[in-house]
Amino acid sequence: MTKAFEIAVFQGDGIGPEIMAPTVEILKKFSDASDRYSLTFADAPAGAAHYAVTGDSFPDESLKVAKRADAILLSAMGLPDVRYPDGTEISPQIDLRKKLTLFAGVRPVTIKPGQLSPLIIPEGKEIDFVLIRESTEGLFYTQGCGEVGQDEARETLLITRDISEKLFQFAFNLARSRKLANRGMSKVTCVDKANVFRAFAFFREIFDQQARDFPDIVADHAYVDATALWMVQKPWDFDVLVTENMFGDILSDLGAGLMGGLGLAPSADIGLEHAVFQPCHGSAPDIAGQGISNPLAMILSAAMMLDWLGIKHENSAMVEDGNRLRAAVEGLVFSRTALTRDLGGSATTKDTSDAISKAIFGQ
Ligand code: NAD
Repeated sequence: MTKAFEIAVFQGDGIGPEIMAPTVEILKKFSDASDRYSLTFADAPAGAAHYAVTGDSFPDESLKVAKRADAILLSAMGLPDVRYPDGTEISPQIDLRKKLTLFAGVRPVTIKPGQLSPLIIPEGKEIDFVLIRESTEGLFYTQGCGEVGQDEARETLLITRDISEKLFQFAFNLARSRKLANRGMSKVTCVDKANVFRAFAFFREIFDQQARDFPDIVADHAYVDATALWMVQKPWDFDVLVTENMFGDILSDLGAGLMGGLGLAPSADIGLEHAVFQPCHGSAPDIAGQGISNPLAMILSAAMMLDWLGIKHENSAMVEDGNRLRAAVEGLVFSRTALTRDLGGSATTKDTSDAISKAIFGQ
């Protein structure tokens, strides 16, 4: 039986539309070839360019499209020279996390053969871990409404029991499903600064309480500063890391750096009902319009979307197609063919996406 899914598409700013178009094209080919699922796509205009023209950065209608959809694909939003009157940037992708309560920012860090990592990886060691960044509160809680006086400025960090419980359950369940797939070492590490801040001692206490429901998974702790060091010195010791919003924001760029840059770093922001899939990188205005942007992080994010929908709706065909998409990307990276400039090649966006399409569909 064919199950139909609607995908909301935020084309975004800068290189956003350039990397979204080939990604949607590949997903349409999967959909056309499948008798187990079908995908339709609904555009959701938003972002800095939309704000510059209309004065509205995130129309209500686009939020409705996102809420109605089974999953959301987003490229990147924001342009440094388009700002609100208070000087902050247009960032509907962050508003979306709060509006849809997407508390778990999932950032896989994997290094596959051929990937140009700055690390020297010892024989027999594998880098395959997932960083989960809480994405609705923490130090982003007062985003856009922090207090700024003449001589001092304040922002508030918020940790709630409700969101923390959901976050930790998500992290332990992820470690469990990785264990079933023979990945990782059945471990979740809570990354905090519980030695200094009471809010993080509270965060850790909730983590320990939730850990009791997962006796098959090791519950580990680490301070954020030490975690930054160990991500460089011994990243093969991590499985699932879970942390506060700002710490996760910073560590996920470190994770992308380990993978050789932002070009191969996908992500997902997941809640209980909705999920957004987007690359870790921004709108790259410095290369927009030149046809040289790397579409692979966007394509890997689409693979995460197929996984998430497939698992949620018990549709193994979607999970298999997600694996085929990832394998096609790994094939290009391993053979170092059709890679864009940021990955050391000279391919265009079209060359890269055509090569992915050819590897999967033969055309
Ligand atoms: P960026 O990630 O857009 O770019 C950093 C560098 O990486 C640039 O040199 C860029 O050319 C390169 N790069 C990024 N993606 C690439 C790709 N797919 N292919 C090839 N090269 C790529 O970060 P930035 O310059 O700090 O931010 C630009 C804009 O994007 C800003 O307005 C920022 O607020 C926004 N932004 C949005 C998101 C998001 O939507 N999730 C995330 C980060 C930044």
